[in-house]
Amino acid sequence: MIAGMGVLRGLMITMRRGLLTFHRDWRAGKALHRRGGGALLVDLFRTPSKGSEPTVVQDHLTDGLFTVEYPDERLPLHERFRVLPVLIYDDHDGHVRCTCCHICAKVCPPQCIWMSQAKSPRGTVVPLPEDFYIDMDVCMNCGLCAEYCPFDAIKMDSNFELANYERHQTHVFDLQDLLVSAEYYAKTHPEAWSSAEETTKRQKLEKKKEHRLQKAIAAAETSTP
Ligand code: SF4
Ligand code: SF4
Repeated sequence: MIAGMGVLRGLMITMRRGLLTFHRDWRAGKALHRRGGGALLVDLFRTPSKGSEPTVVQDHLTDGLFTVEYPDERLPLHERFRVLPVLIYDDHDGHVRCTCCHICAKVCPPQCIWMSQAKSPRGTVVPLPEDFYIDMDVCMNCGLCAEYCPFDAIKMDSNFELANYERHQTHVFDLQDLLVSAEYYAKTHPEAWSSAEETTKRQKLEKKKEHRLQKAIAAAETSTP
């Protein structure tokens, strides 16, 4: 066999496959369409604005060349797709749900969560984190922290576009980086948010919050001379 014939054969197979695909697409009237079906030849002259791109779905009827033109096109994400944890605060009262109980830090398999407890001006412990850190390079996206949190305070987010040019300090997220509103979570996880389980958890949480508030008021009244 002549040297290099294998490579040539491979190239021929690829070319044949490509030509056949275009031929079939041309006959089906899809030759100038993006596979997602949203944009046409005019794409050569204008860039579709971000956020209004068609959603691309490759199902069993879609054949031929298929390239998701990320970031102009995106594959739909499943709601349960999880990347990194976030901390939830309630929009209506700004209440940060985390009580700094350390349970998530204890269950985290690679031990990439750490935090410090907030203190009152008198030095007493307050059920809030003063700061909260997660090392995103170490997190393995297992979701155990969210499973174990008794206050529904830590949830898994699906945002995967987190790349940047600095790989040390900025990859350790602090409290400000981690905080997201309950409204954001409701929008990104509509099914989970409206599930019976989450609704019951939220109701319990509101009761706990009210109880803590009443206790704090009573303590303040007794300490006033
Ligand atoms: S996120 Fe949840 S488990 Fe972790 S410290 Fe806060 S309240 Fe506790
Ligand atoms: S998702 Fe898993 S690895 Fe990441 S912080 Fe939570 S428990 Fe730790």
